[in-house]
Amino acid sequence: MTSSESTLGPKAAEFVNRSHRLYTGGAFVPAADGRTFPTYDPSTGRRITDVPYAGPADVDAAVSAARSALDGAWGSLPALVRSRMLTRLAELIEENAAELAEIEALDGGKPVSVNEVMDVPAAIEHFRYYSGWPTKIEGETIPVHLPDTLCYTRKEPVGVCAQIIPFNYPLMMAAWKVAPALAAGCTVVLKPAEQTPLSALRLAELIEEAGFPPGTVNIVTGDAGTGRALVDHEGVAKIAFTGSTAVGREIAARAGTGLKRVTLELGGKNPNIVLADADVEAAVAGAFNGVYFNSGQSCIAASRLYVHRSLFEEVVGRLAEAADKARVGPALDRATQFGPLVSAEQYDRVRGYLLDGLEAGASLRAGEVPPASPQGGYYVRPALFTGATPGMRITREEIFGPVLVAAPFDEVDEVVEYSNDTPYGLAAGVWTRSLGLAHTLAARLQAGMVYLNSWASGDPGAPFGGVKASGIGREMGRTNLDAYLETKTVWTSLGS
Ligand code: NAD
Ligand code: MG
Repeated sequence: MTSSESTLGPKAAEFVNRSHRLYTGGAFVPAADGRTFPTYDPSTGRRITDVPYAGPADVDAAVSAARSALDGAWGSLPALVRSRMLTRLAELIEENAAELAEIEALDGGKPVSVNEVMDVPAAIEHFRYYSGWPTKIEGETIPVHLPDTLCYTRKEPVGVCAQIIPFNYPLMMAAWKVAPALAAGCTVVLKPAEQTPLSALRLAELIEEAGFPPGTVNIVTGDAGTGRALVDHEGVAKIAFTGSTAVGREIAARAGTGLKRVTLELGGKNPNIVLADADVEAAVAGAFNGVYFNSGQSCIAASRLYVHRSLFEEVVGRLAEAADKARVGPALDRATQFGPLVSAEQYDRVRGYLLDGLEAGASLRAGEVPPASPQGGYYVRPALFTGATPGMRITREEIFGPVLVAAPFDEVDEVVEYSNDTPYGLAAGVWTRSLGLAHTLAARLQAGMVYLNSWASGDPGAPFGGVKASGIGREMGRTNLDAYLETKTVWTSLGS
């Protein structure tokens, strides 16, 4: 047992030490060829346990089971019963919240205190929100021009959905994917990230306990190879993906070939603007949490900060001071504010960007380049660059670590130009006391979400997603439900 595991509660420890299985067709099974892979604890760098590696045969079994459930037990359930099962699942997650928060902390490195107040409650609320939808999915009667004709639409589930999620919010991302698909009447094959498979496997047990018919939700653990097999499977009607823009492009191309429906939540390099009349206290707190939350491993990380020149030194000084005081440590330690990065690979990647920024001539006002070999876990302190130019890689590329790039501006038009000078378009923020300027900028910024005097507010009912290279489609709310529905038009001649 690792030092992190020894601080787990008894339920989480029992789960972690159990042998792990894929969840397909309502059964917990090993991979067809018996293959497994390890998952690591980012707080120590040590192996936690092994989980099955789903190959093409396992993906095929999962998709077949999902198809059978759609054509059978799940597809024929009344909406009210689907709704009740989603509610039951929300309750089960709630009953097991403490255990899930620990599993998530162990496997992904996010502080247990953050999982308790944010990730796990968000997953619960997501299932609760979508549990209200099955009974409210209605078609329409169309007033067509033909005489003696009834024309109406039916909203039907799109089919079997392949859902592929990243490492940064494992349980919450699973909820964002599974809940709307089930509410729409679809069936699902979910693939968690290879770095963080454990909470999805625990979720599989809760799905089983909630009484969903076999095959309604299937969970396969694996890596890019498993993801590709899922994306290419001809039984899959829709793909929902969250992760990097590079993989998103590949998936969109493959989905295009198969003419599959696709929604993508991809990367961001999100601008956060502090205007001259901002409430500095609120702006500094928002900028700090906006970029460093989850150690920067967030698609909506506020990673580019533009501050009006009159406030630049004050804002940067206060941010650097807060960054220097940040408590970076093991995820299961309750004193920890920011956990480690998820893996050695991400550590090396973020370290590479820190070195690159310094070599390119930017200066670090807070943080440091971490050692070449991580000491224990994958810890990187919050870093703040100034003096970066618009063309530098640290200004342009998604770092996915606790690295802020701050720059001053003079004119509003200038900062709109800087903000939109990116291939991405996920989130943007504006801090100002001027209502008019706030809403003018909300319209001018190229982003799927704009936060005014706030950052990262969210609700299951509010659409979430990006424009440009940040993705296609929206999650949350009614918009995402529609992504899992097809419209069928039915024409009836009423003539004798
Ligand atoms: P990734 O896009 O490689 O992986 C995300 C998920 O997709 C994982 O489940 C992975 O197994 C799967 N996958 C990978 N390649 C695939 C393929 N070709 N076909 C189908 N599925 C595939 O992301 P990553 O390696 O976890 O992280 C790399 C970078 O991606 C990060 O540093 C960050 O910049 C970005 N990222 C963004 C988000 C986000 O929320 N926008 C989340 C995670 C990572
Ligand atoms: Mg892990």
